[in-house]
Amino acid sequence: MSELMDQLRGAVAGPVFGPEDEGFAGEVAGFNLSAQHRPEVAVGITSEADAVAVVRAAASSGAPVRVLATGHGSPTPITDGVLVNTSRLSTVTIDGRIAHIEAGCRWAEVVAAAAEHGLAPITGASDAVGCIGYTLGGGLGPLTRTYGVSSDFARGFRVVTGAGEVVTANAEENSDLFWALRGGKGGLGLVVSMDFELVELSTLYGGSLFFAADDISTVFSTWVEWTKTAPETVNSSVAILRLPPIEAIPEPLRGKTSLTVRYAFAGDPAEGERLLQPIRDAGTAFIDGVGEMPASNIALIHNDPKDPVTAWDRGMLLTDLDADFAAAFLDVAGPDQQLPLVAIEIRLLGGAMHRDVPEGSAVGGRGGAYSLVMIGVPDPSLFEKVLPATADGVTAPLAGWISPEHTVNFAGGFSVPGSYEACWPADTFARLAEVRAAYDPDRVFPFGPVS
Ligand SMILES: Cc1cc2nc3c(=O)[nH]c(=O)nc-3n(C[C@H](O)[C@H](O)[C@H](O)COP(=O)(O)OP(=O)(O)OC[C@H]3O[C@@H](n4cnc5c(N)ncnc54)[C@H](O)[C@@H]3O)c2cc1C
Repeated sequence: MSELMDQLRGAVAGPVFGPEDEGFAGEVAGFNLSAQHRPEVAVGITSEADAVAVVRAAASSGAPVRVLATGHGSPTPITDGVLVNTSRLSTVTIDGRIAHIEAGCRWAEVVAAAAEHGLAPITGASDAVGCIGYTLGGGLGPLTRTYGVSSDFARGFRVVTGAGEVVTANAEENSDLFWALRGGKGGLGLVVSMDFELVELSTLYGGSLFFAADDISTVFSTWVEWTKTAPETVNSSVAILRLPPIEAIPEPLRGKTSLTVRYAFAGDPAEGERLLQPIRDAGTAFIDGVGEMPASNIALIHNDPKDPVTAWDRGMLLTDLDADFAAAFLDVAGPDQQLPLVAIEIRLLGGAMHRDVPEGSAVGGRGGAYSLVMIGVPDPSLFEKVLPATADGVTAPLAGWISPEHTVNFAGGFSVPGSYEACWPADTFARLAEVRAAYDPDRVFPFGPVS
């Protein structure tokens, strides 16, 4: 490997670290502290030319190449080959309604740049997540039901293929790769930049409501019923929170079990308020943070942590819900249960998410009506057995509502057998294999559950 390291140091302008080098630990660190990466080499790329040089050097020496942008992705540690850190490529430029986004950008940077033009990207819940990794998985966010999945807004990519060639993938050029990059996730090359269409949006009626334990059953059941007839303009999720008694948690939520309803409506605020009223009427919110807000504050709706954490999660998609689901869910996860899960979230999906782009894309899970994500307490000693067993216990009585479809961005570490394959319809999965074989025949870019 030292030969590869020497080669990289000669060819790349950015830093190149071996495991014994000072700076290695910082270069391989990401959001999820439970992923302790120890590749043979870590390279911080600073340009497209660096990206090409890394891939060519790695390919010629047979070393696999994996990407770390923010570390919000899979917790599986990288233990061999080359880790490419893209975080130094962080420029966003806006040209008309297109944002040109470099590989290391987080949504926060794009949101801020777009807001100066009265525009907004259709993002995920957290603006600390990386734009490329998120979009490669499709991407379900607080406005997905109204606008569609985020990859529907990708207009083109610059990609270094397994052969170390830079190609443009868009509707006209390399359209098979473009199809795959919109939802196919891994094994498709090193993306250097993405062109992403913005929408005209400067304000939202949105935010979150918090209800105390006594209100959970009624508000949750009302939410399930309410979502069944909510128009596509309504975006909402609900989560039962069991937050620890620590100072980092704001006082009203500290050490308590509560329920939060998140809401995002991109239209007339009076109509947004009217549509939300049944939820306000279902209980007494001890925090009511829903109102008119700048669209650039969208990340405050979920208020996900920004600083690195030790994280465990498991997600899945659900089919249509009903009163029987609400009863079964409250039975197993309601306020009377003691569970080592800080959050159990259900998002309303459907609407525009169900409709693929006219030219088609590799996004899986479009048929999901809701998503369910469980986030464990941040104690690594529970990650191997206790949290998986808890998640199994929560989902067993809900089996009748769990969709056979899955979405790759919520698949966690693919620890459940078959969960990776379930992220795409069988014909999409097969076509993705063909595209990978065409653009990375030697499998320089590993992908999938055991990558
Ligand atoms: C707090 C939190 C909130 C989240 N919220 C949402 C949400 O609302 N909706 C949603 O859909 N998902 C959500 N996710 C999941 C997230 O979108 C995915 O985990 C995504 O892969 C993270 O991308 P990243 O680049 O930030 O992370 P990283 O761990 O750095 O990268 C993840 C993977 O993306 C790929 N990748 C990244 N950059 C490149 C590149 N330049 N070229 C090629 N491949 C690349 C690689 O396969 C890499 O392994 C959330 C995750 C967290 C932890």
